[in-house]
Amino acid sequence: MEINASTGLVALFGYPTGHSLSPAMHNAAFRTMGLDLRYLAFDVHPGELRDAVIGARAMGFVGLNVTVPHKETIMPMLNEVRPEAAFIGAVNTVTINERGKLIGHNTDGRGFMKSLEAEGIDAAGKKVLVIGSGGASRAICASLCECAAEVAVYNRTADKAARLVMDLGINFKNAVQIESLNAEAVRGYDMVINATSLGLDDGDPLPIDTGLLRAGQIVGDLIYRSTPLLQKAGGMGLCTFNGMGMLLWQGVLSSEIWTGQMPPVEAMREALLKRFQ
Ligand code: NAP
Repeated sequence: MEINASTGLVALFGYPTGHSLSPAMHNAAFRTMGLDLRYLAFDVHPGELRDAVIGARAMGFVGLNVTVPHKETIMPMLNEVRPEAAFIGAVNTVTINERGKLIGHNTDGRGFMKSLEAEGIDAAGKKVLVIGSGGASRAICASLCECAAEVAVYNRTADKAARLVMDLGINFKNAVQIESLNAEAVRGYDMVINATSLGLDDGDPLPIDTGLLRAGQIVGDLIYRSTPLLQKAGGMGLCTFNGMGMLLWQGVLSSEIWTGQMPPVEAMREALLKRFQ
């Protein structure tokens, strides 16, 4: 499809964005839906975020995705922040309506739950251990708390885990903090999820001693590809999943928010997988 004067734009604001898989995924969706929309990534320096947001509104962008390091700092620049984004304390999706009103959403938590469903994993009634308490953990814990029997949070910096559990406690009674990853604690969980950045870089230590895992557990990692943790857990015969599904489904939900239509999930998945070949 040709770009013309009426082509709409959705932008990713991050710094840097060169590694992002989102342009490929969203442009595949817009193309398949036959929408006159394009998705472009912009490296927005932290000091320039306000100007970029004002520019997006002035130029009538259809919407935004927001990534590191702007997910939190953009919030006061918006006219409204939806409750799930307010709880998480971060926005990953912005809609800009005809009157220039900017509304912040966060699709990470619901995206994660959709990815579990797509993998045939039901978190309902399960005891889940989440390692890490950054933005991604906050998003998935809030969604998991809606159906899991228990959501336990462990974090290197215990204060941050305590704060997350306290925040979850406003709406849920099934969130707890655990202060050490010992065998007794770890074996009590049905699902163990790495929501730390450990595994992103070669040579990172494992987020958990895999010798503590037991048969029957499900082991997940929010990192988009297989990690040493997943390889070890898979080698033990455990069911594993990586963060590719969450990336896909948060994108599906964002696209639906911008366009009002369910996007073509398979075209989006294919576009993501192609980037890994
Ligand atoms: P974040 O807010 O920066 O949080 C990072 C977390 O990792 C914190 O809990 C931090 O602990 C922990 N951590 C970092 N280095 C550590 C170390 N050396 N030892 C132990 N813990 C360490 O990041 P985030 O946005 O939550 O992202 C976390 C992970 O999720 C990343 O790998 C990211 O790629 C992934 N992610 C995936 C998706 C998806 O769609 N699949 C979406 C978002 C994020 P402290 O509090 O102690 O520093």
